Formats: sequence, structure tokens, C-alpha cells
Amino acid sequence: MTEITKTLCPYCGVGCGLEVSPPAQPGKATHRDSQGNPVWRVRGDKSHPSSQGMVCVKGATIAESLDKNRLQYPMVRESLDREFRRVSWEEAFDLITKRIQTVRFTQGPEAICMYGSGQFQTEDYYIAQKLLKGCLGSNNFDANSRLCMSSAVAGYIQSFGADGPPCCYEDLELTDCAFLIGTNTAECHPIVFNRLEKYHKRNRKVKMIVVDPRRTPTAEAADLHLAIRPGTDIDLLNGIAHLLMRWGHIDAGFIDECTSNFSAYAEVIRHYSPEVVAHQCGISIEDLETAARYWGESQRVLSLWSMGVNQSSEGTAKVRTIINLHLMTGQIGKPGAGPFSLTGQPNAMGGREAGGLAHLLPGYRLVKNPQHRAEVEDVWGLKRGQISPTPGMTAWDMIVGLENGSVGLLWIAATNPAVSMPDLKRTKAALMRSPFTIYQDAYYPTETAAYAHVLLPAAQWSEKTGVMTNSERTVTLCPAFRRPPGEAKPDWEIFAEVGRRLGFVGEFAFANSAEVYAEFVKLTRDRPCDMTGLSHEQLQINGPTQWPHPEAGTREESSTSPQPLASSPSGKRLYTDLRFHTPDGRARFGAYHSRGLAEPPDPNYPFVLTTGRLYGHWHTQTRTGRIEKTRQMHPEPFIEIHPRDAAVLGISDNQFVEVRSRRSKAKFPAKITKAIAPGTVFVPMHWGALWADNAEANALTHPESCPDSLQPELKACAVQLVPA
Ligand code: SF4
Repeated sequence: MTEITKTLCPYCGVGCGLEVSPPAQPGKATHRDSQGNPVWRVRGDKSHPSSQGMVCVKGATIAESLDKNRLQYPMVRESLDREFRRVSWEEAFDLITKRIQTVRFTQGPEAICMYGSGQFQTEDYYIAQKLLKGCLGSNNFDANSRLCMSSAVAGYIQSFGADGPPCCYEDLELTDCAFLIGTNTAECHPIVFNRLEKYHKRNRKVKMIVVDPRRTPTAEAADLHLAIRPGTDIDLLNGIAHLLMRWGHIDAGFIDECTSNFSAYAEVIRHYSPEVVAHQCGISIEDLETAARYWGESQRVLSLWSMGVNQSSEGTAKVRTIINLHLMTGQIGKPGAGPFSLTGQPNAMGGREAGGLAHLLPGYRLVKNPQHRAEVEDVWGLKRGQISPTPGMTAWDMIVGLENGSVGLLWIAATNPAVSMPDLKRTKAALMRSPFTIYQDAYYPTETAAYAHVLLPAAQWSEKTGVMTNSERTVTLCPAFRRPPGEAKPDWEIFAEVGRRLGFVGEFAFANSAEVYAEFVKLTRDRPCDMTGLSHEQLQINGPTQWPHPEAGTREESSTSPQPLASSPSGKRLYTDLRFHTPDGRARFGAYHSRGLAEPPDPNYPFVLTTGRLYGHWHTQTRTGRIEKTRQMHPEPFIEIHPRDAAVLGISDNQFVEVRSRRSKAKFPAKITKAIAPGTVFVPMHWGALWADNAEANALTHPESCPDSLQPELKACAVQLVPA
């Protein structure tokens, strides 16, 4: 009998269901990769509600990455200029716990930091929070979601009173107008885009607007592409609002009954006339009016966004300005409508639920809220006051903390900051100064391993059982179906063992990840992300389930649109039912003027560099760079330059160009294309030092961050181009 495991793709936040079966099956030839090695068979799971059997090239080839370049044994070295030597887990745990105790009692718990990942399963996230924020009393847990989704988190909290996207994928096929801003969905969230594009093609009246300085494959499919200047998103959004107001396309009843702060917003958008906005954004008044007309004439508008909005020094303001448009037009709380952030990592949503950012606690709670801290302390069995009221260090704060000596121990897990952080020269110099870095990962080598004193081998997806939540709040159990290589262990087991050795034996007395999950869901009771009706066993029996899913709930009750933040249980639009998680139950308008880029172009650095991802690669190529098919799709980095700029600079196709920013420089072959707007250049972010010489996009970027979300502006910096 063929043994099939139903699981979830571990790459992106779309969260496609997969069916995996062993390489060798009776009556079938052994399944092999392009080099002839036996590999597990992977196909889309038709029963998964989010993806309905679809997968992109990354999901389809994931099995080819499972055995390549795996870190199998703990290793240590006394200093970064020495070689690693293999040690036992016993020796590694002993070293780590002694070091934690030393730092704890000499510098204090706030000198201990962990930088985790949206690749974690929820159980990994949860145990890390309990160890750091609960037992050790340090809120210095941040994840690579800080670089990815934290502006969406802050925007939802400020506008709705709670995090959590109020939409789901069904809305893609119920909308009249899809408004995509700062998202190359076709390449970065391909299966979401497949669903939308098929629906769009079938329904000619449905409009698709794409806002992006590049003519991406996503923009190619749009009815209207607005190639705005980088940093003018708020101008555009306020300009659309200005026209909707002028034309009377607002929902006064909804504004009156369900929102607050509209007058401050109305005062701001008054200044964004079409003439001003078209000039600022570099688009025509006609295109601006078309966008506003599509919004105003549609019964159901769905906004989608991702890093182009979030990775900005005004990311939270951008998110709230998108939400404003929905509040102003009543485009929320009904099928096919709402503001929908697309999550980057496969379990960034689970991380948010488990409190996996420096200002969060499990169950969508905030570190700063005394009642929230007390509720968590009660479940964790801690004395009152054990959890610090001060939000911890964010990802970039940890780099600064290494520079100024306030970080005594840095534990990095399942992420590769030596490629993905901004201002890499500064990042790497800070990592070199770290007194003690533990690097826990499934793969070796990676760029970040070069900065570690201790390497811990982590079991990854396929080798541990846990839960992940995708962008539409669907929770999927991902069972282990193979043994970890060598001595690799699940992340949560490593954290729990360290906790026990530090003396917290009862706090980490879990026999398996199902017990961890059972404790975690207790902390979601009566919270917006209530999952008290879920367990590993129930997810195994019932399959993927969308939250909220309280204990007495049923799958049917919890999976319909509209969604929890604007709860209308019957699915009908009832203003009196639309209560948000703010103290007065009203959604709050945010009134923001555009501030533009933190580092705008100037005569010395006249181009705006924007960065992004490509269809076949995932982040820093730890997996996709080792899979022949995806590697061949994008074998090398490049820089996109508009023909007009290339002509002025005398740059020809494929000629190397040195790109200089105020921080560093890098070199790329030129790809001359009208897909990029004049004055802007594009470089993919996937190449670190292991994969190409001097071709790191983030060598150029800067760490200036949104003041609310503290998410760095990875999407734009000023550069000069010099033909090499
Ligand atoms: Fe995996 Fe994302 Fe591709 Fe789906 S769209 S198969 S989740 S990488």
C-alpha cells in the first residue's frame, strides 16, 4: 500500500497542501531527482481548501532539498577564526546553559537574544517564547517576520484593535475589483495569483489594478497598471480617496456606525487633488481617475499587498491608508471585500499567534499590556511580574546591541541574516563582534554559519510534527514522515531541553509536540485567534481548519467569509454586527500625509534601487539554490535598468554595472528592460556570499525603519550606477 502523508508546503505564506509519498513504491519506478538520486514524490493535495491541488515549482521540487547540505551534528569552536569541531549534544547543551547563566547573572536577562523564523512551526515558536519571555524574563525574541510582515501587524492592530487578516482566499473569487499594491503576487504568491487570474479571465467585468514601479508578471495581467514612483503609495491612496469623496462614493452609514476618526482623515485627503497626486506619483490623471472609478463602481473591492507596502519606513501608515479606503467605502465584512495582507513565510501567521515578535505574547497579546502579561503568566505558572513589561529588541536592535555590547548571547535559528538583513557590511561587522552566537539550522554551510560559535542541527519540515497557519488563517498539521539526518532535533525540543537544564523542568515537561500545541491553544481562548477547538488529533481527523475555531465551534461555522475582525455571523452585511476589537468597537481611520522614502535619490545617488524575489527562488537560496530545476530558472543575479537610463550611462545588455550606495557596493550584469521605470533599478535579493561574488542586494540597503512596526525599508535606497 502506498503511504501518503498530507502536509503543507514549507516555503511561502500561501500555504499549499501537499501529498508526499516515499520514493520507492510497489509497481512503480523509483522516483528520482535530476541527478538520479531517489527522492520523495510530492504533488498538490486536492483536498486542501487553500490550494485545491495546485502547487508552484518550489512546492513541486521541495523533496530534492531534503538531504542536501544538511547540518547533522552539533559543532563548536572557541572563536570565529578557529575550525568547528564535532561535539555531543550533551557537551553542546552544557556549554549553552553555562553561557546563558553567565550572561543572565552578569549582564542580566535582557542581554540574551533569540532571532527566529517564520519557518518555525507553531510549537517551535511557542516554546521559544516560554523560554525567553517567560522563564528567562527577556522579551528579546524577534523573528525574520520583522523584515516581512510587522507593518501589517501594526496596521491591523492600530486600525482594528487586533492583528489578523479579515479575508480569506474565497474572496479572490468573489470580488469585483482586485487592488494589488506592492505585491508581485504572480512570482511571490503564485497559487493565490493562479486563483485570482483564472477568476479574472472568466469574469470580464472584474477589474484588476496593480500598483508597482515594475511591470512584473502580475502587472502584465492587470486592467490597469499604475507604475508609481517608489515611496508615493500614500499619495496614490489618498488621491484615490480624494476622488471617491469628491464623487460621493463613500459609505456614510458605515462610517457613522462602525468607525472613528474620519474627520481627521477627511482633512488629510482634502490636500491630495488629482493634479498633485499625478505629479507626485508620476502617473497620468486619467489613470488615477480610472483607479478611483474602479474602486467607486465596484460592490466588492479586495486589496492585496505584501513586501512592497510593508518593507517601508512608513509601512504602518501605508497599511492603514489601504485600510482607510475600505472603511470609507464600506468594503469590509462582506464576501469578496477587505484589506488582505499576503504573508511571506509559511508560518509567519503562526508566529504572530504564538507571540513571536519582540512586542507580542501568545494569543495576540501585547507585552506592554499588564492584563495580557498576567494572563500568560497564569498559564505558564509563573509568579506575577516575571514577564518584562518592556518590548524586547527587534531584529535590527540586536545588530545595534552587538555593536554597543549590550547583547551577550545571540541565538539565531532557521534564518540567514548574513544575507537578508539590511546594510550587510554593518550587519556582518556586528556579527563578527558577537561574544557568543548559537546558530541552529537544518542546512550547512550558510552565510550566517560563518559567524557562529555553536552550530546546532535542526530537524526541518518533514522530520518533525507541528502546525503551520497560512495567510488566510488556515491551520494545517504537518506530520513527520521521515527521520531527521544524523543527530538533528526539532527546534522546540532543543529549546525545551535548554529550559529544563536551566532548572525549568516542570515548565518544559512535554512528551511530544501535540502536548505543546495543547498548551498553546489554551492561550488563545476568547482571543481573536481562538483555536481552543483545535488539537493535533482534530487536525489529523478534520484536516486543515481556519481560525477562529473555539472549543465548541465547528469547521463550517469558522471558515466562511466575512471574517472575525468584522464579525457578521450570518454572512450578511449588518452594521450593528460589525464590531471591531477596539475599546469602542469601531475601526479607526489613520490620517497620514505621505513622507516618501527615508533615503530619496539626489544628484550623487540619482537612482532608486528596489529589491524583490523571483518565481523559482526562496529567500537566500538555502534550499532552491541546491535544486537543479529552480537554480537553472534563475542561475545568476542581475540588475534591471530602463533603456533610457542605460543609454545615458552607456550601459549595454549583460554588461557589468557597479551599484554604489552610501553603505557599500555590488556588481551585477545589466538587464535592460522597459519593465522597470526610468530612474528606478531592480535587483533580486536571493544571492548571498555563498552563491555569487559581490552581488548582495542588501549590501546596498539601509536599516531606516517604520517608527510603529520597526520594519526596515528594504524596498528602496538611493544608488549610483557605474559601468564596470
Ligand atoms: Fe509552496 Fe507558496 Fe508555491 Fe504554494 S505558492 S507551492 S506554498 S511556494
